[in-house]
Amino acid sequence: MKKSIHDLGDIKGKRALVRVDVNVPMDENKNVTDDTRIRAILPTLQFLKDKGAKIILMAHLGRPKGEWKTEFSLEPVAKYMSKLLGEDVLFVKSPVGEGADKELEALKDGQVALLENIRFYKAEEAKDDDMTFAEELAKLGDFYVNDAFGAAHRKHTSTAKVAHILKPAVSGLLMEKELRCLSQALDNPVRPFTAVVGGAKVSSKIGVLENLIDKVDNLIIGGGMAYTFVKANGGKIGNSICEDDQMDVAKAIEKKAADKGVKIVMATDVLATDDFSGKGTNKVVDVKNIPDGFEGVDAGPDTQKAFAEVLKNSKTILMNGPVGAFENPAFANGTKAVLQAIVDATKNGAVSVIGGGDSVSAAKQFFKAEDFTHVSTGGGASLEFIEGKVLPGVAALDDK
Ligand code: AMP
Repeated sequence: MKKSIHDLGDIKGKRALVRVDVNVPMDENKNVTDDTRIRAILPTLQFLKDKGAKIILMAHLGRPKGEWKTEFSLEPVAKYMSKLLGEDVLFVKSPVGEGADKELEALKDGQVALLENIRFYKAEEAKDDDMTFAEELAKLGDFYVNDAFGAAHRKHTSTAKVAHILKPAVSGLLMEKELRCLSQALDNPVRPFTAVVGGAKVSSKIGVLENLIDKVDNLIIGGGMAYTFVKANGGKIGNSICEDDQMDVAKAIEKKAADKGVKIVMATDVLATDDFSGKGTNKVVDVKNIPDGFEGVDAGPDTQKAFAEVLKNSKTILMNGPVGAFENPAFANGTKAVLQAIVDATKNGAVSVIGGGDSVSAAKQFFKAEDFTHVSTGGGASLEFIEGKVLPGVAALDDK
């Protein structure tokens, strides 16, 4: 267990150096078009404000790759945060080590400052052990907080290195919730525990499948990756996406599941199409007998029922990846049905965690975040967490 801001003592007047993830999308006029990530850090900001700390935020926007480019400036985010908080957020334009500390002297107790894009510094993402930049950053705070779960899988200066120098180094409330929900599901699940793993490729989910097989009771495998399993077992998959070089991996995963007594649940029928745009002929077919010229793009009605039945009887559910090409409304029913079953199970007391980029967008598109126990804010980070990897941004924090 990592320490969180709850474990700090009196922090009135102290400077909190906080890594946040406010990498939000903006339109061409620099208006924030989705503020989910900003809203997600508000509880941490409010907590630190209430305690009278001076709050100094470090964050990145896009991939400026160590160059100062105005198009990646965080100034519009500072303005947006000012509006959201109803008070002035100090935007620190001067570089760290060259005046940022002077600008921060104006910061009052309970006030928030946002430093310019931390990825404007080459040293932020440098893959070496040089701690010079971490030391410069550490000088700006009296303690360190990491609330950027979405960047916790990166071993960058602001996400990990600085936490080795500036102490105490603790998690923010969002990070704490992410870690609690994901670890509770993975390490201490109320059973039966079911994972839904979908998405396009087996190759990108091998780590997830292998780690989950050691933990779950049921493994629902859906989406494009299922066809590699079907073909490996002699099925006829038409034009469905398939990774021939992963068929051995698929077989090995099935064997491991059988050895461990894990039930793998896969599609029996699928919606197949002769036109991925959705405008051609779509028909429900046997997953093992997909006609030439057609590709499987969604779970069929029988499969949806079977998936829902397993989910209905589960007490812990983790979803990573959609079970169809849901971005097209014509192929979204399977993913919707799976999410509906998860929502119903949650209402009946199950713990549900949606982890991973595409399932999160599907969950939010068709339902509300509150319908699930937890919808992870980290794409890559939650994937690596589910794979059982150590996240450098988490490892660097103080243990309880
Ligand atoms: P991933 O990033 O690996 O989780 O993959 C997510 C993507 O897989 C989504 O964009 C889905 O549209 C896509 N996907 C899911 N099922 C299929 C399918 N049967 N055929 C093609 N793409 C799919």
